[in-house]
Amino acid sequence: MTKTNNHHTILVVDDQMGVRRLLFEAFQEEGYQVDMAANGSDALEKIDQVRPDIVLMDMKMPGMSGLEVLREVKKQDKDLKVILMTAYGELEIVAEAMALGVTEYVTKPFDINEVRGLVRKALA
Ligand SMILES: [Mg+2]
Repeated sequence: MTKTNNHHTILVVDDQMGVRRLLFEAFQEEGYQVDMAANGSDALEKIDQVRPDIVLMDMKMPGMSGLEVLREVKKQDKDLKVILMTAYGELEIVAEAMALGVTEYVTKPFDINEVRGLVRKALA
């Protein structure tokens, strides 16, 4: 395995531990630095501390939604790359996320290889 991703940091934001763990393991295995947050306010703190290259963010979380976090994030750094993870059929949310400058979105349940591809493309 090539270790070409060593310098890229990914922040995984999801309220479900299983999803966080899946993404953590998949990307760490590829050589990325992976950090995690379980909710929106934790995510904003981590973004400040860790300065990730890309954020994989769940849409549906208790407290701040992914869209609300995205709005905050883009106020502070409009160039930060964010991939939003939505449920199937949330077209209005996707449209709003696109308007806010989301890099990409993926529909849950996602194929891990699709997420890998989107991250690779976003960071290329
Ligand atoms: Mg969720």
